[in-house]
Amino acid sequence: MTAMQTDVLVIGGGATGAAVAWDCALRGFDTILAERRDLAEGTSGRFHGLLHSGGRYAVKDPNAAVECIEENVVLRRIAADCIEDTGGLFVTTPDDDPAYGDQFVAGCAKTGVPTEEIDVAEALRREPRLNPGIRRAFTVPDASIDAWKTVWALAHAATSHGAKVLTYHRVVDVLREGDRVTGARLQDERTGEEVTVECRMVLNASGAWAGQIADMADIEGIEIIPGKGIMIAMNHRLVNTVINRCTMPADGDILVPIRTVSVIGTTDIRVKDPDEPEVTQDEVEQMLDDGERLVPGFRRARALRVWAGVRPLFQDAKASGSSRDVTRAHAMLDHQSRDGVDGFLTITGGKLTTMRLMARDIVDAMCRQLGEDRPCTTDQVVLPGSEDLATYSIGERLKTKEDHLLEDQLVCECELIPRGRLEATMRERETTNLDDIRRSLRLGMGPCQGGFCIYRATGILHGVEQLDALQANDSLRSFLQERWKGVWPILYGDQLRQARLDDWIFQGLLDVEHLPQ
Ligand SMILES: Cc1cc2nc3c(=O)[nH]c(=O)nc-3n(C[C@H](O)[C@H](O)[C@H](O)COP(=O)(O)OP(=O)(O)OC[C@H]3O[C@@H](n4cnc5c(N)ncnc54)[C@H](O)[C@@H]3O)c2cc1C
Repeated sequence: MTAMQTDVLVIGGGATGAAVAWDCALRGFDTILAERRDLAEGTSGRFHGLLHSGGRYAVKDPNAAVECIEENVVLRRIAADCIEDTGGLFVTTPDDDPAYGDQFVAGCAKTGVPTEEIDVAEALRREPRLNPGIRRAFTVPDASIDAWKTVWALAHAATSHGAKVLTYHRVVDVLREGDRVTGARLQDERTGEEVTVECRMVLNASGAWAGQIADMADIEGIEIIPGKGIMIAMNHRLVNTVINRCTMPADGDILVPIRTVSVIGTTDIRVKDPDEPEVTQDEVEQMLDDGERLVPGFRRARALRVWAGVRPLFQDAKASGSSRDVTRAHAMLDHQSRDGVDGFLTITGGKLTTMRLMARDIVDAMCRQLGEDRPCTTDQVVLPGSEDLATYSIGERLKTKEDHLLEDQLVCECELIPRGRLEATMRERETTNLDDIRRSLRLGMGPCQGGFCIYRATGILHGVEQLDALQANDSLRSFLQERWKGVWPILYGDQLRQARLDDWIFQGLLDVEHLPQ
């Protein structure tokens, strides 16, 4: 068993946990971040991709709108390289009430969300595939944000300030001495080794799993209801601007162009278990219908993949009366004042857009508890990779490839990943898991869903990581199984033909099912 000492242990390696670790490290705390899987493998890596302008909440939830627009401005400054400045439109479809547009404009004015009504003809000129029946259109500063890149940038920033990031380390117990939390017991998911971390503070940033971690600390009454939402990625950019329906927030009302795809979402269904939320056929049909409302002919595009994420909806079973509401805002729980337990704080809920603010709140609360005055400066310090303050653009990879056409082999043609970059990432990540590499580079995320690139990548991984044949087989099989989960619920049209071809490659030619294990 390994024993470690630190000032702060952060539990959960999603956007919130990574932002908390960065904030702690920047304020000079010795910090360890523990994540049971890879970074951003929870809700953060399964979200919709939208850097909110606040427009969505301008009427229904003004506080959330203010938080979003303020953080939108901050993130463009500190994490530009993770953001594509797509801009956003709120459009009144033939199914929406045009009068809501006036409420929307008034809400935006009150909350500071910049908006302007433009002619429908101008909206259609900007986005020719939009429903020609739209009746009103408003611009907002929405954008798309790459969650994996953001979380890794936060983690790199934290480690550059001395933090340790322990991926594949599951917290199995929270340690208490009387009324004080003193650390946690972790298990290395790859080797089985146990690690004990002793610390001054444990910060619980485990999203939809925050109730489970609080249980381990014998804290009662923290119910996190997982609110499942599904999203479908279509095979190309049907729109280049984030398109929102101009109506009260509802299901399937946003289409986000992100990287090479556009993503329609989402639903909101309460489920029991945050792990492996199921995608149902009804939800898929509903999303495709909702896509049609925004972009006629939506169903004829290729649907590449469907996935689900879980919103952590916090309900305080200790609160009484009307305050026993489920909240969608972020919740910061100080277990000293709430439960009489020192050394333990929880942050959950919120949005990816507001993760820096959530981190600031919990680290401020920690400083108060420790009696230390260390102000937050994460709104000022630019994250690694964003130093030139330029947002990314969709054509960047293509331009790089065209500038160096003959210099490097392409391993993944859909996402334009050259062999050199793949090998460098494999070395840097030190992983045998191709899904980890996927999250870093978008390997296998294009129309073939790994059909043409993943056996090549497995061969390269075999060499770079010096795997034996059995480990390489295992890596290939687990990648294919993971991809299949997102492919089978949307098999129709051209993507069905693609899946059949992939099946011929992997089962017919390579017989992966019977490779030695
Ligand atoms: C369908 C959907 C769409 C969304 N779209 C948007 C959007 O477009 N824009 C936006 O701003 N927000 C969006 N959100 C909200 C946003 O995704 C979340 O608020 C945010 O990602 C939550 O981040 P987190 O770090 O708190 O949680 P998570 O990312 O879930 O991180 C928690 C981590 O804790 C880890 N963990 C759990 N148990 C343990 C343990 N025992 N030991 C160690 N680690 C553990 C998990 O593996 C996980 O990685 C969306 C949410 C959903 C569900």
